Amino acid sequence: MIPYGRHEISQADVDTVIDVLQNRFLTQGAQVPAFEETVAEYCGAGQGVAVNSATSALHIACLALGLGKGDWLWTSPLTFVASANCGLYCGAQVDFVDVDAASWNMCPEKLEQKLIKAEVEGRLPKVVVPVHLRGEPCDMAAIGALAKRFGFKVIEDASHAIGGSYAGQKIGACVHSDITVFSFHPVKIVTTAEGGMAMTNSNELASRMGLFRSHGITRDPGLMQGESDGAWYYQQVELGYNYRLTELQAALGISQMQRLDEFITKRHALSDRYDTRLSGLPLALPTRAKGNHSGLHLYPVRLQLGKISPSHAQVFDRMRAAGIGVNLHYIPVHLQPYYKAMGFKKGDFPEAERYYAEALTLPLFPGLTGDEQDEVVAALTAAMAL
Ligand SMILES: *Cc1c(COP(=O)(O)O)cnc(C)c1O
Repeated sequence: MIPYGRHEISQADVDTVIDVLQNRFLTQGAQVPAFEETVAEYCGAGQGVAVNSATSALHIACLALGLGKGDWLWTSPLTFVASANCGLYCGAQVDFVDVDAASWNMCPEKLEQKLIKAEVEGRLPKVVVPVHLRGEPCDMAAIGALAKRFGFKVIEDASHAIGGSYAGQKIGACVHSDITVFSFHPVKIVTTAEGGMAMTNSNELASRMGLFRSHGITRDPGLMQGESDGAWYYQQVELGYNYRLTELQAALGISQMQRLDEFITKRHALSDRYDTRLSGLPLALPTRAKGNHSGLHLYPVRLQLGKISPSHAQVFDRMRAAGIGVNLHYIPVHLQPYYKAMGFKKGDFPEAERYYAEALTLPLFPGLTGDEQDEVVAALTAAMAL
């Protein structure tokens, strides 16, 4: 089976992890700060806070921004459930903004309309989480302008987008947002097995996220109440968690970061090749906006079901039967039973639902060969026929 995504581990990656295992601290040593610095420097952010997953990063980002009971978090329905769940973890309520028909990302016009209505009703969101689906940057200038006008905070879910750029600035630079979150799960662009990082240009947000990452405990006298009892002293000043990344993972991350640009270049070459080879088929292909550079985590296509006889599910099943590990990113979050129980229903976000009815994610990862890619194209051509 050709998978839809696959990580790439080099001998240098292996060597660096073994070195940590044999010679260094396993947790809370120098590798995590070095990894944070590597990623912050790469994307031009002030600081990074490394954690054990992007889900944890989204959670501490929401906590640091003060999201809580009585607040609203809005995100895109076309995302992994974690982009929405982070709001629920904080006791906030979650709502969605439908996607744009062309980019499949959160639509700024629909966001504006929803904000105008919410302002009248006194239900403005505290936090909005745009998701750079497949790595293609959202319209961050428009979302950032709305954040200023309506007074909400922005967390970019850039789990798909490390290595990409928006209007000449690397994703993660937080030009139009407060915090940007990356995932290092193995199917993503660079991996630490499990892992994530929250980028910010605010020292205060970085410091608060650092607290929530590790039990809400500080050894910084500046953050303590009252006097220190002595050199052994620490205080718990918030209710935090244990979301720490290990030294082994951080070392792997530093090593992987050396190949990030190479990974992105390969993803672009493969996507260009798909674009050419699939252009004659009854498909809508993923677009890339001029002026931006996509991280190209995913290559989803949309079937033009009016032009073919097999159904969406039939094409999916035929691809799997042909050994192509297609996938579907994503089932709109509001249609998950857990969210339906809150009152969401089919028809609430029609553009996301139309996408879901037609989409198919084709294999895309740096190690995908030309022959394998031709196999995918041939299988898709056959799957859509008769
Ligand atoms: C993968 C992913 C996450 C969660 O990442 P983890 O590191 O697995 O917690 C969140 N949001 C999006 C859009 C993702 O693709």
